[in-house]
Amino acid sequence: MIKPLVTLVGLLHKSKISEQVRYASQALPQLSSEKYNIKRKDFGTIKSSDVSYFKSILNEGRVLTDENDVMPYNIDWIKNCRGQSTVVLKPQNTAEVSAILKYCNEKRLAVCPQGGNTGLVGGSVPVFDEIVLNFSLMNKIESLDDVSGALICEAGCILENLDNYVRERGLIMPLDLGAKGSCHIGGNASTNAGGLRLLRYGNLHGSILGIEAVKADGTVIDCLKALKKDNTGYHLKHLFIGSEGTLGFVTKVAVSCPVLPKAVNLGFFGVENFENILKLYKSAKSSLGEILSAFEMADFDSINSTVQNLKLPNPIADYPFYVLVETHGSDDVHDGEKLSRFLSKEMESGLIVDGTVTSEPSKMQTIWNLRESIAGAGLVVGYVFKYDVSIPLKNYYDLVPILRKKVGDKALIVCGYGHVGDGNIHINVTVPKYSQEIASVLEPYIFEEVSKLNGSISAEHGIGFRKPKYIHYSKDKSALQLMKDLKQLMDPNGILNPYKVLPDTV
Ligand SMILES: Cc1cc2nc3c(=O)[nH]c(=O)nc-3n(C[C@H](O)[C@H](O)[C@H](O)COP(=O)(O)OP(=O)(O)OC[C@H]3O[C@@H](n4cnc5c(N)ncnc54)[C@H](O)[C@@H]3O)c2cc1C
Repeated sequence: MIKPLVTLVGLLHKSKISEQVRYASQALPQLSSEKYNIKRKDFGTIKSSDVSYFKSILNEGRVLTDENDVMPYNIDWIKNCRGQSTVVLKPQNTAEVSAILKYCNEKRLAVCPQGGNTGLVGGSVPVFDEIVLNFSLMNKIESLDDVSGALICEAGCILENLDNYVRERGLIMPLDLGAKGSCHIGGNASTNAGGLRLLRYGNLHGSILGIEAVKADGTVIDCLKALKKDNTGYHLKHLFIGSEGTLGFVTKVAVSCPVLPKAVNLGFFGVENFENILKLYKSAKSSLGEILSAFEMADFDSINSTVQNLKLPNPIADYPFYVLVETHGSDDVHDGEKLSRFLSKEMESGLIVDGTVTSEPSKMQTIWNLRESIAGAGLVVGYVFKYDVSIPLKNYYDLVPILRKKVGDKALIVCGYGHVGDGNIHINVTVPKYSQEIASVLEPYIFEEVSKLNGSISAEHGIGFRKPKYIHYSKDKSALQLMKDLKQLMDPNGILNPYKVLPDTV
């Protein structure tokens, strides 16, 4: 039965959820270099004369050296990685980024770029004493063309702030993710972030019109055109989208913003088994067509972990699987009728067992919170091994029950959830605390299986620090060699985000 959404209490705003999770455990994670047995590369070490130089081009307040001030910049969001940096720099403009990199390149000082530090693969924090270059003060919006939808802004703008800004002008950002209250558009570009509505608005290689970036030697590369079409030679902006700060630091972006939908509807449904989710997805694509904006799934353990650990309310009863279907359109009546027809049909067919639909913003937010907080729900009770993989849809959920069996009672929670419309599943294995024994049960096993299924070991989070040694499961030798050649060309001294993305050997 479709039920009206019950009144829900104790709602948490998205960014509050992030805060709650971030500070759930105050224990410091082990140093990444020790945990993963990494050797420091032959970079320069920071001297007091270097710090004096940085203070001369920034100013005292934008060069952090106090151990307590620097600590948060050394630890990643899931508290898996911890670096040993002693200096954090906060430039305010492109010229300052350029001056810092030129100096660091000459002195062979390694640098780790950092946006909102919400990355989930350890890419945003140093491993040893790399200088952290944090973009949070580069947060100016330069222009918005409300006819073309082209927004030009600095890399450190927070995604949610940009979304609020463009919404007031009849547009939306083309991406949305659970970390939007903290992540930066520069971090989004550098990770080619996917998120909840990629199904509808495509990935950032399409939505980012132009980029300004700084190379290792301080050269500013200006590809900041706000044009839809520009076939003037190589499409260089793509080198910086998804390269996780290893080829250059993104300082500005031009983004194409879609029109704010006038009609938004959200359904949250209980489903009996995964096979039915695939049938439902096929049906949603044909019944809802151009208005379908998200098709997400979560298994019982995913939703239950947010209910138990974060005390978020589930508006429907317990089911083995849940599906969240969202529509973005321009006509309330037309969209409402389409959704109602889809619901009636699929309740009759039995694909939807139970559920709720709403177009009320606060109720939609409640449902989205339930889905978006799964990423952090396990962190409240332990350590979470996180996997973010693409798998052909017919095998999408196969690995979850296999892993459940494999880790047995060593795990507190093994759950699968994600962006069905993009073939991207997140698998979280929560254990009381990190152990090498469990790590070796999961890795490289999971990557081998994904490779056998012709999937990708990283659908959207990137390779970062955690996965370079597994990248060969998804990238051919020839492609890896070209990646190395590009790195050599653009950053010959290897100072940009070392120990990340590229494997030591091809
Ligand atoms: C609750 C939660 C939900 C999430 N949901 C999603 C999701 O649905 N889809 C998704 O794709 N990701 C998701 N993520 C992961 C993360 O939010 C994204 O990868 C995001 O794009 C990172 O942005 P950031 O500003 O926090 O970057 P950071 O974490 O600071 O950095 C990420 C990487 O980019 C590099 N970098 C950062 N800024 C720059 C720059 N200006 N120039 C060059 N390199 C730079 C860093 O060195 C690092 O390698 C989620 C994370 C959380 C915590």
